Amino acid sequence: MLLKNYKTTFHKELSSLYDEHEIDSFFYIIVEKLNGLKRIDLALNPEKVLDGIHLKKWKSIVLDLKTQKPIQYILGETEFYGAPFLVNENTLIPRPETEELVELIIKQNPKSEIPPEPKVNGAKLNSKLKILDIGTGSGCIAISLAKNISNADVFAIDVSEEALVIAKMNAAINKTDVTFLLDNILKIVDLEQQFDIIVSNPPYVRNIEKAEIKPNVLAYEPHLALFVDDMDALLFYRKIGQLAKKNLNPNGKLYFEINQYLGKETVELLEDLGFKNVELKKDIYGNDRMISAIHSAMLQ
Ligand code: GLN
Repeated sequence: MLLKNYKTTFHKELSSLYDEHEIDSFFYIIVEKLNGLKRIDLALNPEKVLDGIHLKKWKSIVLDLKTQKPIQYILGETEFYGAPFLVNENTLIPRPETEELVELIIKQNPKSEIPPEPKVNGAKLNSKLKILDIGTGSGCIAISLAKNISNADVFAIDVSEEALVIAKMNAAINKTDVTFLLDNILKIVDLEQQFDIIVSNPPYVRNIEKAEIKPNVLAYEPHLALFVDDMDALLFYRKIGQLAKKNLNPNGKLYFEINQYLGKETVELLEDLGFKNVELKKDIYGNDRMISAIHSAMLQ
């Protein structure tokens, strides 16, 4: 069968569940993964034949798509900040909003800001920018920072052993050096190290917001990474803010992805903790989504 002809069948099979645009985008994602062809290659090779082995694989993917399983989990991979990432049901599927957070951190922390290898009495001081990502999941934030801030020393914590398996594989695939730690941030009293940047995209969705979450997110993505108690929705922000007061260097920076409905409250929480320059930023959809703040050593 010709691949371009199979496209019609593919659309027919899924048309009751997804809109045309989405089916089209699934089609090209799968063509790239299974047949190694980009959209343009397919256009240039209209006679490309779909052989029996590949057809079997396509059919099994269609069955999975019919259960509303996210395409990223079906294929076991996705792209984040221009790089490949493995994902499974123990990790969130990285969101475009999180790419924006990564972009903000990279822009605000260009490598040129860090002094080149200062030497004191012949001893080399650590001139690397020390970064910690809390609740790393697939490792997408930590690995993208390690990849794009060349003199960074990146650490990442997660409470899920299963997520860290994926994160470590992602660090290897992306040829980056990240130190992963298995721990529950809510139980840590002191990180016992100082950092220049602490970043986190912690769980922040309240139960009252469940109605807004797509059914396939609810059914397949890890609730541990998504949901917080309605009565204490800023739990992670408070805990991480408190740790950042102890473990950020003077003028160190704290970055968060946040619940779009709790921008004001999250800003207030950080200001009450004594952070300065607490800035709320919107994502591409116009929602309050990111916060950056500076640890003021003066206000201790
Ligand atoms: N942004 C994610 C969502 O839309 C939530 C991520 C999180 O809770 N940290 O589902």
